[in-house]
Amino acid sequence: ATPTAIMVGTGRAAKMGLLIKNAEALETASKINMMVFDKTGTLTRGTPEVTDTKFKNEEDKAYAISLEAMSSHPLAKAIVNTQDIALKNVTSYEEIAGEGIKGIVDNKHVLAGNKKMMDHFHVVVENDVDYASAGKTPLYYAIDGQYVGVMALQDEIKPGAKELISDLHQRGIKTMMLTGDNERTAKAIAGELNMDYRAEVLPQDKERIVHELQDEGYKVGMIGDGINDAPALTRADVGVSFTSGLDIAIESADLVLMKNDLHDLVVAFDLSKATIKNIK
Ligand code: ADP
Ligand code: MG
Repeated sequence: ATPTAIMVGTGRAAKMGLLIKNAEALETASKINMMVFDKTGTLTRGTPEVTDTKFKNEEDKAYAISLEAMSSHPLAKAIVNTQDIALKNVTSYEEIAGEGIKGIVDNKHVLAGNKKMMDHFHVVVENDVDYASAGKTPLYYAIDGQYVGVMALQDEIKPGAKELISDLHQRGIKTMMLTGDNERTAKAIAGELNMDYRAEVLPQDKERIVHELQDEGYKVGMIGDGINDAPALTRADVGVSFTSGLDIAIESADLVLMKNDLHDLVVAFDLSKATIKNIK
């Protein structure tokens, strides 16, 4: 591609709200045949809401929410913001990657996390409602090794996400969702969007998965908004973020969707193809 054509393409992109930070990306975008998506905050709104709460008693719930108040995870924020409870004193706090959080609240050992976390600490979950198959994320709670309750949260799929995936498929681009969320929740959401997925992905694994796809011969695009996404965005052939993403994600991206509109990803791919065609 001639530098002039790329410059013209980059200028056109800017007028459409697509910031191309690296001119080469405009050319590479025309070759992408696998688009990888972060789930939370990218395909979903990233602002989950508590839909179900089931505790053995109010006192246990207060312990659980007091521990959640220590966490900056979006799930924890959603819980703490909606539950009106006097917080107890937390004297120890620890995050367990991919599983949840644990700590000491008023001298009791409190665990909050997914099923993997409960299995890890040998807690027997006494809950028979299948929240996950409905696309909700269940979080379980234990005090001093005993199960005390569950909360389920739902993070809505963004408007336009389903259409975006089908538009990409129509262009011969495969799609994959990556998430730290549990297998069944991921399956429900990916099913709704009609895309492939990998669940229970640890933050450091996102980059590895992008690399593996490249080794399989794909030209890989990756879109995400979080700290966890940054290494994968750098690794991808074209990294994409949007203005509502964290600075670190935007810095790691080659392409930034300035209008925060997922559909602009298709606009970018089409523009890239048109630019390359004009050159040849
Ligand atoms: P992701 O943000 O993609 O879900 P994380 O590694 O941050 O990935 O979290 C993985 C899982 O650990 C979450 O989906 C949730 O099940 C559990 N988890 C994380 N933080 C908390 C928390 N504050 N309370 C309960 N569970 C949590
Ligand atoms: Mg995210």
